[in-house]
Amino acid sequence: MTPEEIKAYCEQNGVRFVDVKFVDLFGQWQHITRPIRELNDWTDYNRSPWRTGYGFDGSSIRGFQKIEESDMLLIPDPDTAFIDPFIEVPTLSVIANVEDPVTRQPYTRDARHIAQKAEQYLRETGVGDTVYIGPELEFFIFDEVRFANQMHAASYIVDSDEGIWNSNAEATLRGDLNQGYRPRVKGGYFPVAPHDTLTDIRNEMVEVMEECGIQVELHHHEVATAGQAEIDMRFDTLTRMGDKALLYKYIVKNVARRNGKVATFMPKPLFGDNGSGMHTHLSIWKNGINLFAGEEYAGISKMCKHYIAGLIRHGRALMAIAAPTTNSYKRLVPGYEAPVNLVYSARNRSAACRIPLVSPDPRQKRVEFRPPDPSGNPYLTFAAILMAGLDGIINEWDPGEPLDKINLFDLSPEELANIPTVAQSLDGSLRALEEDHEFLLKGGVFTEDVLETWIAYKYENEVDPIRMRPHPYEFELYFDA
Ligand code: GLN
Ligand code: MG
Ligand code: MG
Ligand code: MG
Repeated sequence: MTPEEIKAYCEQNGVRFVDVKFVDLFGQWQHITRPIRELNDWTDYNRSPWRTGYGFDGSSIRGFQKIEESDMLLIPDPDTAFIDPFIEVPTLSVIANVEDPVTRQPYTRDARHIAQKAEQYLRETGVGDTVYIGPELEFFIFDEVRFANQMHAASYIVDSDEGIWNSNAEATLRGDLNQGYRPRVKGGYFPVAPHDTLTDIRNEMVEVMEECGIQVELHHHEVATAGQAEIDMRFDTLTRMGDKALLYKYIVKNVARRNGKVATFMPKPLFGDNGSGMHTHLSIWKNGINLFAGEEYAGISKMCKHYIAGLIRHGRALMAIAAPTTNSYKRLVPGYEAPVNLVYSARNRSAACRIPLVSPDPRQKRVEFRPPDPSGNPYLTFAAILMAGLDGIINEWDPGEPLDKINLFDLSPEELANIPTVAQSLDGSLRALEEDHEFLLKGGVFTEDVLETWIAYKYENEVDPIRMRPHPYEFELYFDA
């Protein structure tokens, strides 16, 4: 909507507040709410909040400024406006960019701005003019009251014979041994009701998404036994998809809340069952033509092969942004459809890069990158993937041969040794990023400052505190030592 249209809409619909949302460096939406008056009472557009912004104190926002330089501006983007479905009084929501109030320059730690710069850099390189992103965010829905107990217990619940957490364990937790209509471990994909108890809540999430301007293609129960779900959005351009991924998480969590449930995008909440990924499909376009379609392997172009080579070569470092929590690495283990091997294939879902054989239509041709998960900042994840791929394109790297005929999960250790893999921990990925990040700095897209802030925060707040705490499973192993 244009600011004029927004003004008319607000008047006709009795909108009383504007809720301005922006993202902290690590991917959590933040907001301030103001009466709508100032936003629409303008005669001079250049003096309206659309241009002058809203001031706020950035000092307590994760990854933002230090105390002495904390005043910042939020510049709302009218293209992002929607009516907030979770606020009682009619409220317009807008997503904002962050600016420095003195220089009026975009704030370099604003992830939305980094996403915009990545799109800008794509155009500057001449490689393409548009990048389309289609992420598949997975998540779990748990009963709110049971959640705390269950999650705390999950790491203890080790079925002593099989060494796995399973639905029997869940039943035991409930004090209930009835196994009827309960999907088994990895059995959630995707029997109808009564096994699937979440159709209605997923429908409700989808309807709210559509009201807020997200076009949804499908939803389904996911593989894990206990309440795993996936809702797939139609692709969009990079920054807009960053906006939509955050709106998606906002809607999923709030619809869960109003149903007495809790949703989590934590990559691996349950030991022994599938985790939640954010497979990210990407294609680069120029003048309305999909440059990833061609005559090479699986109907891709030479450019697309170079893109894949970029993802493979920078894959380890990329994970520090695309799988950026300590928990991410509990998902990235063999056996749960979360790839650890940095290879590509048309069919093989154990490869990090997959070329879906969806349809002969060249517009559909794209690369699915499977290691990312939804625990990060989607703007940064999408931007970093694009930058890694662009580096491959610009340097015309070769991704080698596709791995098709074998299931990588079945290879022997000797055979596997020659295959590059993602790191086994956040620590490992952060170290890889320290060594390999030039590709992110191209075109000023990421800055040294952002990467240093990211790495320092991750060590201080996540890697080190986890490393220093006794793990529940250590009691199992060592209590009787
Ligand atoms: N949940 C799996 C993952 O962690 C993906 C399952 C699927 O969509 N095939 O990536
Ligand atoms: Mg899917
Ligand atoms: Mg899935
Ligand atoms: Mg997928």
